[in-house]
Amino acid sequence: MKLEIALIPGDGIGPDIVREAVKVLQTVCDKAGHSLKTKSLLAGGAAIDATGKPLPEETLEEAKASQSVLLGAVGGPKWDAVPGELRPEKALLGLRGGLGLFCNLRPALLYSQLADACPLRRESVEGGLDIMVVRELTGGIYFGERGRTADGAYDTMSYTKGEVERIARKAFEIAMKRSKRLTSVDKANILETSRLWRATVDEVARDYPEVAVNHLYVDNAAMQLVRNPRQFDVILTENMFGDILSDEASMVTGSIGMLPSASLRADSFGMYEPIHGSAPDIAGQDKANPLATVLSVAMMLRYSLGMGEEASLVEKAVDKVLDEGLRTADIYTEGTKLCGTRAMGDALVQAVKEA
Ligand code: NAD
Repeated sequence: MKLEIALIPGDGIGPDIVREAVKVLQTVCDKAGHSLKTKSLLAGGAAIDATGKPLPEETLEEAKASQSVLLGAVGGPKWDAVPGELRPEKALLGLRGGLGLFCNLRPALLYSQLADACPLRRESVEGGLDIMVVRELTGGIYFGERGRTADGAYDTMSYTKGEVERIARKAFEIAMKRSKRLTSVDKANILETSRLWRATVDEVARDYPEVAVNHLYVDNAAMQLVRNPRQFDVILTENMFGDILSDEASMVTGSIGMLPSASLRADSFGMYEPIHGSAPDIAGQDKANPLATVLSVAMMLRYSLGMGEEASLVEKAVDKVLDEGLRTADIYTEGTKLCGTRAMGDALVQAVKEA
């Protein structure tokens, strides 16, 4: 197969980690007999420096023309003083909106090799932790009407039934491929949008009778994630609740440098990126952990390119290097082997070749 992937390295450690992830993707393609064509595009601070805009039209057009996008991270102190509309982060919203990416997938996976990094008691996570947060990404309060009045301010949360239905279907499809358990999170005791959300999720659930569904209020869900995270498999929720809960779920695993994400639309197109930021404190120093970006490549192979076997190849390579004790500084513990970004990438390439 011919793969055409748009790369948006972005700022800070973005170029460091995307470079290693592409090395791994190229090795997988060589092994499986696929051809890989990549195109590097500008977004974020790098684009502001080069063009004056965080998201040049060319980037959006080229991204649309590709099969999928791999993004590093954007932003950094250099652009902190830039006014709101021109900030590097605007590139992310522009890409999500411009590409129609309404479904955000954030797995929170606790690696047994890194169990000591988990801030919860061992018995709470014994047997592992593998949660998939499915967050609605282009509706709700982040996109509603907002403004200032003489002595106040307002933001509006609104959803259409269609918006809820399409994200619910994605979540049920994912639940069918996992353990067939889905928790929908809302605030239906107070919010009208949540009552629509709950009724629509129940309607969609009728098409997936094998999936066991329960509903939780968001405050309870936040508590349960810390108290007993193992009760969750797929968590389906709206934009703002998902923003908060997916960060909480990933921190429960204790490994921000390890976690990938996918943003999808109704067809197979998607944008893939690590959940962490541009880590300007370690940019260009061969210290960044590339694993979250490499695992984002695995998600791309699985969800956009329909290459489950190639995705497993990448995931197994990550498991192997962790088993061998290799650790970048952020996940290093005594008795393991400290390595840099490039050495981690080289080890992954070797693991893919040997698999
Ligand atoms: P951050 O995730 O960049 O860094 C937080 C801490 O985690 C830092 O100490 C950093 O060194 C460390 N870290 C993060 N990723 C790492 C990795 N792969 N390997 C090793 N260590 C890693 O968050 P921040 O400091 O709040 O934000 C820095 C910049 O990134 C800001 O400009 C912010 O706006 C931007 N940001 C971008 C995105 C994105 O592009 N999606 C997301 C979050 C933050």
